[in-house]
Formats: sequence, structure tokens, C-alpha cells
Amino acid sequence: MSCIFCEIAAGERPADRVYEDDRAVAFRDINPMAPVHILVIPREHIPGPQAIDGANADVAGHLIAVSTRIARDLGIAADGYRLVLNEGRQGGQSVYHMHLHLLGGRPMGWPPG
Ligand code: AMP
Repeated sequence: MSCIFCEIAAGERPADRVYEDDRAVAFRDINPMAPVHILVIPREHIPGPQAIDGANADVAGHLIAVSTRIARDLGIAADGYRLVLNEGRQGGQSVYHMHLHLLGGRPMGWPPG
């Protein structure tokens, strides 16, 4: 089954990349919800956060570490930012390849919509 984020990770689909390493790729969201809106994805196809278990939990830690680096590089670390993982229909997930949203550059409301 085709997956657009697998295609981006493989370089088969264009994306505005801001970071990549052997385990993760980060690129600008095509429909940004904040001045900075980056998606950090694992190269490995993991459908969503519910597929994280004891065997692959290090992937989630790596995505957060990558987001820390990008937040510093893009100058939003000091003011703060929001990390979001959507899971499933009611969680608002639309792409079933796990992705960490890094949102910053404006104050974030709470509770989220
Ligand atoms: P979610 O709703 O949590 O599954 O988030 C999916 C995100 O992927 C949305 O914010 C979309 O705007 C974004 N998106 C979908 N296709 C692309 C693409 N080709 N390049 C960049 N971002 C995308």
C-alpha cells in the first residue's frame, strides 16, 4: 500500500526538508498551522503512536530529540513550542505514517481543538 510519508522519506516525493538522518526525516507541513510547522517522521513505516511498543519505543525518543534540534536551529526553542502526535480518527490523524508535529512561532491555546 502506498504511503506519502514513506515516499517523502525515500526522496520519491518532494518536500521542504529541514533535517534528515539515518532514522528520521523532517520537513515543513504543506498546510502550516503556525509560523513554524514541521513534521518529524521515522524512515520506518510506523502507522501511528499506538504502534509504539517496548520493541520500538526508541523511535519516539529519537523523533523528540530531532524536534529539539530543529527548534533550536529555527530559533523557537527559547520562547517554547508545541509537540503533537495525533492518533486515529478522533485524534485527528489524517496520514497513517507516524509524525510528530513541531509547532511554534506563536502562542498556543489550551485546550487544543
Ligand atoms: P495529521 O492530521 O496529524 O495526520 O497530520 C498530517 C499532516 O500532514 C497535515 O498537517 C498535512 O497538512 C500534512 N501533509 C500532508 N501531505 C503533506 C505533504 N505532501 N507534505 C507536507 N505535509 C503534508
